[in-house]
Amino acid sequence: MATTSKKFHTSFQTGQSEHFVQFCETDAFLIDSVSAFIGAGLRAGDVVIVLATKPHTESLEERLKGDGLEVAAARVRGQYVSMDAAATLSKFMVDGSPEPGRFAEVVGSMIALAAQGQRHVRIFGEMVALLWAEGNRAAAVRLEELWNDLGKTHSFSLCCAYPMQGFGGEVYKEEFTEICQQHSRVIPAESYTLLSSADERLRAITLLQQKANSLEAEIAERKGAEEQLRVSENRYRRLFEASKDGILMVDPRTGTITDANPFMTELLGYTREQLLGQELWRIGLFRDREANLEALRELREKYVLRYETVPLHTKDGQRRQVEFVSTLDQANGHSVIQCNLRDITERKRAEEALLHLAAIVESSDDAILGKNLEGIITSWNAAAERMYGYSAEEIVGQPVTLLFAPDRQDEFTQIMARIRRGERVDHYETVRVRKDGTRLTVSVTISPIKDSSGTIIGASAIARDITERKQLEAKFRRLFDSNLIGVFVADFAGTFLDANDAFLGVLGYTRAELLAGTMQRDALTPPEFHSLSQNAVKALQETGASGAYETEYLHKSGRRIPVLVAVTRIEQTETCMGFVLDISGRKELEKRKDEFISMASHELKTPLTSFKGFLGLLQRRLTTQGDEQALHYVARMDAQVNRLTKLVNELLDLSKMQTGQLDYREERFEVDALVQEIVENVQGTTQTHRLLLEGQIGAEVCGDRDRIGQVLINLLNNAIKYSPWADTVLVRVAKDQNKALVCVQDFGIGIAKEHQHKIFERFYQVTDSEEKTYPGLGIGLYISYQIVKRHGGRMWVESKKGEGAAFQFTLPLV
Ligand code: ADP
Repeated sequence: MATTSKKFHTSFQTGQSEHFVQFCETDAFLIDSVSAFIGAGLRAGDVVIVLATKPHTESLEERLKGDGLEVAAARVRGQYVSMDAAATLSKFMVDGSPEPGRFAEVVGSMIALAAQGQRHVRIFGEMVALLWAEGNRAAAVRLEELWNDLGKTHSFSLCCAYPMQGFGGEVYKEEFTEICQQHSRVIPAESYTLLSSADERLRAITLLQQKANSLEAEIAERKGAEEQLRVSENRYRRLFEASKDGILMVDPRTGTITDANPFMTELLGYTREQLLGQELWRIGLFRDREANLEALRELREKYVLRYETVPLHTKDGQRRQVEFVSTLDQANGHSVIQCNLRDITERKRAEEALLHLAAIVESSDDAILGKNLEGIITSWNAAAERMYGYSAEEIVGQPVTLLFAPDRQDEFTQIMARIRRGERVDHYETVRVRKDGTRLTVSVTISPIKDSSGTIIGASAIARDITERKQLEAKFRRLFDSNLIGVFVADFAGTFLDANDAFLGVLGYTRAELLAGTMQRDALTPPEFHSLSQNAVKALQETGASGAYETEYLHKSGRRIPVLVAVTRIEQTETCMGFVLDISGRKELEKRKDEFISMASHELKTPLTSFKGFLGLLQRRLTTQGDEQALHYVARMDAQVNRLTKLVNELLDLSKMQTGQLDYREERFEVDALVQEIVENVQGTTQTHRLLLEGQIGAEVCGDRDRIGQVLINLLNNAIKYSPWADTVLVRVAKDQNKALVCVQDFGIGIAKEHQHKIFERFYQVTDSEEKTYPGLGIGLYISYQIVKRHGGRMWVESKKGEGAAFQFTLPLV
């Protein structure tokens, strides 16, 4: 320090008013400089006032003492005054600015007091430096002005000292100039002041000029760079604000959002404020916190993270798909994460729809192909490959006319002319050629394809192979036109829409009448058959076919026509096709057959009765004569007559049943007794089988005892007849609730399932090879069934082929 003080060249004139400023780089230099100024004052007999910080005051006084000055004595004499700069400052500062009145009062009165006795006053002040250091630069400049104002009324030398480092920066340029201007003298800081020779100073000035120049150049450059940065920041900000991607800035240390652009807030439905400070998983971006942390870890490792599709849940619960790209970068020495989210929900939907459509096209059974306006094939689905035999690789790029039959080539020009006009060609039936040269009949629909501007750029063709349908149609047409059978098409409501001549012939109508819609099913059906046609329609709706049923139609003349009808639904329509067979002839024949049976059985009955009577007489006579041989023959004749009588009786019963003339008696009788009686009787006629009777019910039924007996006889005879190798027949009587149940079980040939419901029909006999050998008419079970039914009972069979049969019937108990 001593050395610097020796080099210190600045001279301070005494007795002269001035306001100068000393800049300094170090405290040591400051003390050097100020002590020279104050020391010179004390030596010259001036009054000195020190308004400095406590440390500076102490260092200064130390130095003065070191320079041989009696500071304490000077203070006592009133020649040396020291005040704390900050404390003094606080006396006149009002609202961060020096208040002129108070300043004048505080500082002015201090100077006036010191200047008494015409003594010169030297002041070292640091109040401005304090204000400057605080950043209250305006107040510092203002205080300098007030000092200058005070200098107009008071005489004093004022040394202000500022640390040079307080002015480092372009921003201080103006204020620095201002400060300098407020002083009558400016003393540079020590790096200049301490130079001893003029030559050295000139060099220093040159060096400083050079430094200033380069600094200015640097500043200009920096300004340019800053401007550029500002421009690019602005541009980035605009992009950020206007981007159609959601952008989030995330702090990599905390993983929380530091910024979000408007699109992001819109996408998520949160306000920017709600987003800031949140972790990504909280705003629906990752599944959970763990997934979020994992993503951040990965990002720290790879610096870039890209997810093709991330599900995103918006605030209002919508699910959206986003493409997510996140980067980790350095900016201003900080790491930042930027996440870009692109809403691809619509794109995904469109892609899915497109895929869906493509899958439909690919899985279609119809050939679907695309072509441009020149007729070059541009797309080809799997069905097209199957139908025409060309693979997509082979045919795409080829002209569509490759598929056209040689004699149909001109179709192309006609079709394309319509397509160019924007027209659609609907269900156009034509012939095409497969790769192997075979022909197929197709139904094609061709529609124009337009681009986004509406310009027609090609066409799509959907073709269905109708070869088979055509062949089927032709076959059906032949059947229809052959008129072997009546065929009609009708709707479910019952209007005949189409019919062949055979059908019209059956009913006596003309085609014109049919086409006029006058043929209505209900009007053409006698009322008692309406329920049959309704059942048929129901079956059509449920199963697609009615099955054959007999009904009657009304001929135009009013005559009834018995017909056999079968109806099938025409696929996926409310219409049906019916086949009608006129069975008048068959019905007539049946009627005649019934009449014959009735007549024949009546006619046979009388001679048979007298035959039986005479046989009885003959038997009695031969018995008296004791002619055993003849008696034997008569007994055999009697058995045959009994068989014949049975047959004739059955036929007679049958025809009576047909005409409703069979009479039934009404009487109460015991089931147990009847069954026992019949079993004993039938047992008397057979030596081959034992009839075992089980069960008793002790109950009565009401009805015709003989007819029920006839049923039982029938069943027992059948049981014996159809079990030639068995020796037992079981008869069981039981009570089932309020019904009597009678069961006749044999161990014979049994009945296959398919015959079981038919054996109760008239004349039905099982005609498989085995059964053929058994004689009979096939009417016994029919009669039995009708008798039981007439008594309010039910009859059925349980059997398996080869395992015997169990015929059962019920009768209501009284
Ligand atoms: P039929 O006079 O032919 O016996 P039915 O009406 O009594 O006439 O019987 C009808 C048909 O039922 C018979 O032809 C026979 O094929 C079958 N059937 C009847 N009873 C039995 C039985 N117990 N076992 C096997 N088949 C039987």
